[in-house]
Amino acid sequence: MSHQKWQTIASHISKTTGQAFQVQSEHTIAGGCINSTYHIEGNGQNYFVKLNNSENLDMFEAEAAGLTKLAQADAIKVPEPLCWGTASGHAYLVMEYIPFGGESSDLGQQLAAQHQTTYPQFGWYRDNYIGSTPQINTLENDWVTFWQKHRLGFQINLAAQQGYTRLHRKGQRLIAEVGQFFSNYQPQPSLLHGDLWSGNYAISKNGQPVIYDPAVYYGDRETDIAMTELFGGFPKRFYDAYQETSPLEQGYTTRKTLYNLYHILNHLNLFGGSYLRQAENMIASLLSELRY
Ligand code: ADP
Repeated sequence: MSHQKWQTIASHISKTTGQAFQVQSEHTIAGGCINSTYHIEGNGQNYFVKLNNSENLDMFEAEAAGLTKLAQADAIKVPEPLCWGTASGHAYLVMEYIPFGGESSDLGQQLAAQHQTTYPQFGWYRDNYIGSTPQINTLENDWVTFWQKHRLGFQINLAAQQGYTRLHRKGQRLIAEVGQFFSNYQPQPSLLHGDLWSGNYAISKNGQPVIYDPAVYYGDRETDIAMTELFGGFPKRFYDAYQETSPLEQGYTTRKTLYNLYHILNHLNLFGGSYLRQAENMIASLLSELRY
């Protein structure tokens, strides 16, 4: 652990806050998938720090931009990003440290409120990352085009580059017909967290739901809800509260598979293994819904 690195980070924090800060202790926080994460403490202040290799600074810039955007929506608490940069070969992102471990049932209602922040187009002003994979946010007027090109198409092409040719062939058949899933449904461009699995939310000690590690863009709100169901699910009271505030429309259950396929393809491209079978099953199930 380079002492120099923490000194550079500490002086950047001091410059940003205008208060003297030195790292007196640093503890690893487990739970992340991509980065090394730390709670640092000194001069009565606490911060949460992410570290990665210096070439990944853009990932932290995108994350800071996403956190700022979600904070502006003023619906769900997010950690405030403080500063980011490189130090001794590492990229770093410093944000507010939030002690977790409370209770709340407000997340469903708050997410519904966040989804009411909308934009005239689908996408975002900048690309970002889903895990460590680039996520393309080129603005589009049409959601079907956006999902075809920048979500499923992008991941299916990555899979083809990794040699998954059968998956690529079936995926292309599905992508060509994505419009069929939207014959009675017109989604709005809602402000999304974008990577809302159960590892990316917590309740603070003072009882506030907190979301973090986002992959922000404007898109169909169903994509956020679909992802909450993908790895483990959220408490029932979350779905009850969301539905009560903003009921989901008919056809969600089928579109859920179309939306979660994006994340499963991303997991296949990042980790390989059993995600191939899962992606193939999802594509087969979606193809079986098509009418010719
Ligand atoms: P990664 O980018 O590697 O996926 P995460 O953003 O998921 O890392 O953070 C890793 C863990 O750190 C989370 O599971 C959570 O428990 C904790 N954590 C994240 N953000 C904060 C924060 N601002 N304050 C305190 N703990 C946090």
